[in-house]
Amino acid sequence: MTFTKPKLPYSPDALVPTISEETINFHWGKHEQNYIDTLNSLIEDTEYQDMPLEDIISKSDGKVFNNASQAWNHIFYFFQFTPGGQKEPSGALLKQIESQFGSFEAFKEKFVDAGATIFGSGWVWLSSDDKGNLVITAARNAENPLTQGLRPLLVFDVWEHAYYLDYQNRRKDYLQKLWDIVDWSIVEIRYS
Ligand code: MN
Repeated sequence: MTFTKPKLPYSPDALVPTISEETINFHWGKHEQNYIDTLNSLIEDTEYQDMPLEDIISKSDGKVFNNASQAWNHIFYFFQFTPGGQKEPSGALLKQIESQFGSFEAFKEKFVDAGATIFGSGWVWLSSDDKGNLVITAARNAENPLTQGLRPLLVFDVWEHAYYLDYQNRRKDYLQKLWDIVDWSIVEIRYS
């Protein structure tokens, strides 16, 4: 199977001012394309060539894992944003957030802090376990909660390429601004 980059459901300038068109063009346009192209070349004529991306992530390591996971993670990241989307969680997800973190505000602070304090490149994830409990993971490099049997719900990219053009070294400002474009209706579908 040859993987291709899906088309984003919004225009490259739709997330301004949180994420600039220039960042979309580099981050989604070039970085994500490179992960997908590299993965395609690495899996050609190997045991991975006919596997779905999630299976490659579970079964591989090294370069194949890094590129497969980065390819998947960026699709997950960019497809959780909608300009003018649902700004807050509701229903069962909101209840679970309030029961585990006290409030939505307290959850957001804890999530941003987990991302802001990752040393080097990584991702901060919200996932759920098989009982519906929420888990925040500060992940290094390409790490993905799928490999721990968790269900990913939300992710913020904390590689410098995600924010340097728009925020330079102000990683925490970038993480806090992402709340303006997260579409919680998408996170709720992932949780249900
Ligand atoms: Mn990235």
